[in-house]
Amino acid sequence: MSVNEKMYELGSKRSAIRELFEYGKQRAKIVGEENVYDFSIGNPTVPAPECVNETIRQLTEEMDSITLHGYTSAQGDFETRDAIAKYLNKTYQCTFDADDFYMTCGAAASLTITLHALIENRCEEVIAIAPFFPEYRVFVEGTGAKLVVVKADTTNFQIDFEALEKAINPNTKAIIINSPNNPSGAIYDEATIRRLSSLLEEKQKEYAKEIYLISDEPYREIAYDGVEVPYVTKYYRNTIVCYSYSKSLSLPGERIGYILVPKEVTESRAVYAAVCGAGRSLGYVCAPSMLQKVIARCVGQTGDINLYKKNRDLLYNGLTELGYQCFKPAGAFYLFVKALEEDANRFCEKAKEQDLLLVAADGFGCPGYVRISYCVDEEMIKRSFGAFEKLYDSYQTSL
Ligand code: PLP
Repeated sequence: MSVNEKMYELGSKRSAIRELFEYGKQRAKIVGEENVYDFSIGNPTVPAPECVNETIRQLTEEMDSITLHGYTSAQGDFETRDAIAKYLNKTYQCTFDADDFYMTCGAAASLTITLHALIENRCEEVIAIAPFFPEYRVFVEGTGAKLVVVKADTTNFQIDFEALEKAINPNTKAIIINSPNNPSGAIYDEATIRRLSSLLEEKQKEYAKEIYLISDEPYREIAYDGVEVPYVTKYYRNTIVCYSYSKSLSLPGERIGYILVPKEVTESRAVYAAVCGAGRSLGYVCAPSMLQKVIARCVGQTGDINLYKKNRDLLYNGLTELGYQCFKPAGAFYLFVKALEEDANRFCEKAKEQDLLLVAADGFGCPGYVRISYCVDEEMIKRSFGAFEKLYDSYQTSL
């Protein structure tokens, strides 16, 4: 075989989540779609806000198609970056400008570009705090660096600072955080962000080097009950934001997001240039042109987040009543539940017998838990409770 072995391996086996999603589609053909309770994947079910379709209609009518569909600047249209800067400045009282932004094809591209821009050699390490989005491993290892996992604080899914402090060493290049979190639904509160910032400042001084904080924020706007999501760049200077409109505007298939390198970052122009270079080297220049123009006009809008909140309440209350131990999510659209046995993979296999498709959290760095994605049809949640009850009861009788 004359192909890259690592790439062959990545391309030949689907992620556990995709595998389960495909299984669900096959199973639906046998038992009927309404009898499969697929909680596997994080595909938004709330429609994009009307302004998205309206803007697409306007753009196709108002703009000549050469401009609408043509290449933009490598880093993205000035008007789009300027609109995003103005929106963030107004919302979070910041002082960004257009040239701090690099438009990307979603958060996956934002993260891979940022990591490629930062990592200098194979000795470097990037820390992820469990539970974490499993693709971080692929993205970090793709740069040659090592992913270091800090175990979860399962009491409240904030950060286990003792474990984090032990994990930081002179090879640490960056830490990735994700709040609101996939898969726990936790939002890091201000105390957590402050403590994280002082720890990183301290470690930067101790090792006389920069340690970057990469804030992966595709769920920033999906927060319930008025819980604040602190704007991380205001707390820690060397923060780089990786954002995506996949979830907030329900546009996951359109591939649009950005990287923000604030001026406060040490040698920010050099870091920004490295971002541009990594985008070029990875073939990511010029994010989708029409979507950039949509963002310029729809910045600040979201889909109806209340629909996710309704699903959260329905599922959290229903499963808690049945006896499951659930962490109440403050944001995103995932419910994190303790498996009814130590081995969450075995628990998920038993759930499959009831046609409940749940994801074991081992791949998220948090064994013993499962992730239930509730960006699904509300009626499916209601129909699934019988199956959840049977699953729960099967553990009571087998004890
Ligand atoms: N980061 C997290 C935490 C995610 O949950 C996802 C997608 O589910 C991504 C990044 C990738 O997002 P995108 O589809 O915008 O590439």
